[in-house]
Amino acid sequence: MRTPLIAGNWKMNGSLSLVETFADAVAERGVPATVEAALMLPAPFLSVATRAFAGQPVALGGQTLYHQPSGAFTGEVSGGMLVDCGARYVLVGHSERRELFGEDDAAVLARVQAALTAGLTPVLCVGETLEERDAGRTEAVVLGQLAAVFDALSPDERPRLVVAYEPVWAIGTGRTATPEQAQQVHEALRAHLATYDPTLAEGLRLLYGGSMKAANAAELLAQPDIDGGLVGGASLQVDDFLAICQSAG
Ligand code: PEP
Repeated sequence: MRTPLIAGNWKMNGSLSLVETFADAVAERGVPATVEAALMLPAPFLSVATRAFAGQPVALGGQTLYHQPSGAFTGEVSGGMLVDCGARYVLVGHSERRELFGEDDAAVLARVQAALTAGLTPVLCVGETLEERDAGRTEAVVLGQLAAVFDALSPDERPRLVVAYEPVWAIGTGRTATPEQAQQVHEALRAHLATYDPTLAEGLRLLYGGSMKAANAAELLAQPDIDGGLVGGASLQVDDFLAICQSAG
């Protein structure tokens, strides 16, 4: 049985006071016991968030990391630093990192390996652009992004990931994949994982991301191969984030 994971991605948004608002709301209203909640925060907020959420059912994560453990890499953050600040998860290969910061499959793999070495759970993001979908290349693109990482990992490492399917055309656009479109891709991802090991495919959590909100979460999460959500915009509103967590319960 896969525990649903609802992971908020604040991107470069929010403030320390929003961290406190969320921590107070979670303390008051809670999260269903059957659901795991997580917030992927800007790195400067993590230490404060770790204190604010102490003892509460919300895990914390970073939004990216560099593949080196330390050194002269001005501006970068290592996996060990994220762990030091209380992170358990880290996003890797988000489409904004791929598009805006030039992270290709090799860079994504190096970051996944660095995250695993640091003891973090990488949330590997995959997804096709609208152009790729219209050209009928959705599965080829997402399975290619998946294989670029999973082919290089050992059988012991593969179960330590979470995978998020995020169609690029649905991120921040208000345009959500239909539950059927999302399920079709999730099913293909799980089938590909089964080629490594059927037990891996059965246990690995596959999140959907792309304009998930309180109003559409329940029908997406009802799909058999959707095990949670990666939530951008709606994760900045505490009522919306907690409502999505309720939908997963
Ligand atoms: C994201 O950035 O991971 C995301 C899914 O964003 P949004 O929910 O705003 O589409």
